[in-house]
Amino acid sequence: MSYTGPDFEPPPSRRFRRGPLTVALAALVPGALLGWAVYAAVGGSGDGEGGGSASAGVSASTSSRAPSSAGASPSGESGVPDGKEPSGSATSGSPSGSASAPPAGSGPLKGKVVVIDPGHNPGNFRHTAEINRQVDIGTNSKECDTTGTSTNDGYAEAKFTLDVAHRMRELLEEQGATVKLTQDADRSFGPCIDERAEIGNKAKADAAVSIHADGSGAGNRGFHVILPGSVRSGAADTRAIVGPSRELGERIAGNFVRVTGNAPSNYVGGGTGLVTRKDLGGLNLSTVPKVFVECGNMRDSKDAALLTSGAWRQKAAQGISEGIVSFLRG
Ligand code: ZN
Repeated sequence: MSYTGPDFEPPPSRRFRRGPLTVALAALVPGALLGWAVYAAVGGSGDGEGGGSASAGVSASTSSRAPSSAGASPSGESGVPDGKEPSGSATSGSPSGSASAPPAGSGPLKGKVVVIDPGHNPGNFRHTAEINRQVDIGTNSKECDTTGTSTNDGYAEAKFTLDVAHRMRELLEEQGATVKLTQDADRSFGPCIDERAEIGNKAKADAAVSIHADGSGAGNRGFHVILPGSVRSGAADTRAIVGPSRELGERIAGNFVRVTGNAPSNYVGGGTGLVTRKDLGGLNLSTVPKVFVECGNMRDSKDAALLTSGAWRQKAAQGISEGIVSFLRG
């Protein structure tokens, strides 16, 4: 419903390729993401921010081709972890601490502020009344927050997002950035999506990134970066951040492919790894460049094997962080 038209027009200076899936991953740069074979891209990505209706503004490249009818059906809202307490697992390979970080105020990102928003909160499922409270996101009202999804084995998205955020913080602090997390499991639930945006705004973040993993159907694989669409309604006015957020998102997508070696989503984004949405409060209310990263699909067994691997999460964190560094260094 919020889809208003083609959202991805490659900059003219970038090479447009329609290469097959055999394109060497290592050779990919952001513009070349366009070259991925395109699968049908329909339906909502079901981000846990509560926007999982099929009307989510998911849009594909204008050049999309659908080689088969194997389109994903709308996955709807991200799954609640089946009503059971996530067991948590796969803690191997956690960050080794920040001993290698230079003193604050040095490094190429000196003076730059990065806000990392670990999606959801491990305690949200114990606070359903609080997180179901409606908050104003400018365009409409939405739930304060959601529980997020989990793998079929019970590894919770909220644990995944915190782990990746910690790894990113270490990497970005090594570059001299000032890094702030919107939550660090230091509160019983939330924050609400409007507060998550406000934290980035108040910090005057040079870049803000919300970390998630999707809860789509089995067979739907790969990461995607969600960009803010242009909205102006109530407290939401994204017009100033649409451009820089796209730049941020393109650089993250390109570096994510390069570092992880994984292909962009095969179910949204038309093979670009980029999706524009106007239904996410965390984007609509942002006044600083901001994107969401859905690192993979927790409900697909092959993606889940990656998402539960500490070594892979380190690569994911590195890919996202290098995208942010690239964006901030221009
Ligand atoms: Zn999520």
